[in-house]
Amino acid sequence: MKFFFLTVMMSGLAMAGNNDLSHRPKSFSTRAGKAVFADFTEAQYTISYDMNTKLATAHAEIDLTVVEDGLIVFDSVQDPTMIKLDGAIVTATAQKTPNNETTVRVLDASAAAGSHKLSVDVPLKELVEFTADGVKSAFWTSDLDERNFMERYLPASFEYDQVKMSFDITFVGAKTTQVIYTNGIVKEKGRNAYTISYPKHFNASSIFFHTVPQGQTNEIKASYRSIDGRDIPVTIYSSKSLWSGAGGLDRFKTKSFEVFNELEKDYGAWPHEQLIIYNAGMGGMEYCGATMTDYSAVGHEMFHSYFARGVMPANGNSGWLDEALASWRDNAYPRSESLSGSSSMSSHPYYTRITDDAAYSFGARFMSYLDGKLASKGGLKPFMRYMVDKRIFSPLFVEEFAKEMSTQTGISVEADFKKYTYGGQATPQKSVNSRRAAGIHRKMSLKELRNLL
Ligand SMILES: [Zn+2]
Repeated sequence: MKFFFLTVMMSGLAMAGNNDLSHRPKSFSTRAGKAVFADFTEAQYTISYDMNTKLATAHAEIDLTVVEDGLIVFDSVQDPTMIKLDGAIVTATAQKTPNNETTVRVLDASAAAGSHKLSVDVPLKELVEFTADGVKSAFWTSDLDERNFMERYLPASFEYDQVKMSFDITFVGAKTTQVIYTNGIVKEKGRNAYTISYPKHFNASSIFFHTVPQGQTNEIKASYRSIDGRDIPVTIYSSKSLWSGAGGLDRFKTKSFEVFNELEKDYGAWPHEQLIIYNAGMGGMEYCGATMTDYSAVGHEMFHSYFARGVMPANGNSGWLDEALASWRDNAYPRSESLSGSSSMSSHPYYTRITDDAAYSFGARFMSYLDGKLASKGGLKPFMRYMVDKRIFSPLFVEEFAKEMSTQTGISVEADFKKYTYGGQATPQKSVNSRRAAGIHRKMSLKELRNLL
């Protein structure tokens, strides 16, 4: 009977095509039992900014499924003040994964295979600044340091896991209207109260969220006519405290339209509902149809709406793919016949969550080499277009990317991936400074990010 049940359950998963469960990391042993990664199906966040107490809090109601009995794994950098599993108070322990790659939170109470409800309360502390007018807050992310996706702010799952997310936000006691820049659908449901719903393919690195009191930003709105006939809303904005005048935003608009034209020609219609550009004057980070960037990185970051936040990495060891492709594009897609050296971009310890910096330099050269290898098939770009058509919004491993390339082109590349991206001894922190020299994705400290709020 148990066997029968398991068979039914597994075939049900296969029928649902559950990409989340098939990409979850394997369970690992802890002193308290087996830690198991879940499939979050829905997460509703109730977020409150209280102007009187100058405190912000978040409450998460998460529906999830586990396919093996064990201790459910999630993450939140802030210590939760309350956790409930199916209505009963539980605790969780922050602990290292088996090779010390990263830290996650593991529930102390075991859950049976099946569906559960996880409730978590956390204080909202990072990138929250109460001012005389209201509050500035953002959920900006990075893939270059540990635990810098949504988990830096809210209880969250991991990159492999796509979750239907919504925010229920109240600005308690706000005297000024708050402006919200986000890549979800915002509805005003009352005075100082909003709901935001995000597409169900979003994961912990997808959401762009930034709120400021009205009057503190300059913005321009535009509309780009996509090749598929849609009018894509474009919002470009900057902070008045950083930039005087809005003149510079027109330059961003011109640039973004050029890049839209280029990318739609190469990879098809813009895969998102909108484009939001925050002119931060530095750094650069990509979200689904949104970016915080400086002028020079607009093309790089918009490219990431196809590769990174379109064709998505499922883990740290596949995170280099999109940076290598983006850097190859930045270099104007050079082709080469040979490649010297190697890297360990694909072979960091199993639970690694961050991206290897070699992506920007050696990774880009590896793409040039693949372009040469696939020259008889028109090079690498037709395959990239194929991946956007076939694998958009379903997080993948580097092994799947290589296998797709071999299958689609008829030219075997798996040995090349092995030779050039699984070489040597890797450590998660290994780094070359090419990216920082180029100014793209420069590691920004929380202090720097606070200045951009
Ligand atoms: Zn990038």
